[in-house]
Amino acid sequence: MSVFSRLISYSRKRSPWVFRVNAGSCNGCDIEITPCFSPRYDGEQIGALMQGSPKHADILLISGPITLRTKEIVKDIYQQIPSPKAVIALGSCPASGNVFSGSPTIVGSAEAVVPVDLYVPGCPPRPQQILEAIQLAAKMLEKGETHSQKEAHYG
Ligand code: SF4
Repeated sequence: MSVFSRLISYSRKRSPWVFRVNAGSCNGCDIEITPCFSPRYDGEQIGALMQGSPKHADILLISGPITLRTKEIVKDIYQQIPSPKAVIALGSCPASGNVFSGSPTIVGSAEAVVPVDLYVPGCPPRPQQILEAIQLAAKMLEKGETHSQKEAHYG
């Protein structure tokens, strides 16, 4: 790996930029994301910043079960994030459908739509867990362990 590539990789670990999508959540998980970037939990201390465009992000945070309506939107947002990228599924909904399980309007696990690198359990998870997952995702990106990097590596 060249010095330049190592520098980019190190920088990515120190400044994970995040884009979030509500794929059909009850808003409970989304309410827990907000304090992550407020003075109380201060995600900027770990370099994390919320971005308004997926094109500027390294990490996609997904909340809620994936609904039939949001499925294509989630896919499209994932495609817009430049590689390498990491995907974090927030709460029980994108993992199993949770309380929405069995509904004819949901697709199922987020895994069925985009490659998920990390699941954060809880209904909803606490801000500390969310920030920990962001840090972990940044480490995975640095080490080349996310699905997007493995896919690129293995062609
Ligand atoms: S995991 Fe719980 S809090 Fe989060 S969207 Fe699903 S039902 Fe709401």
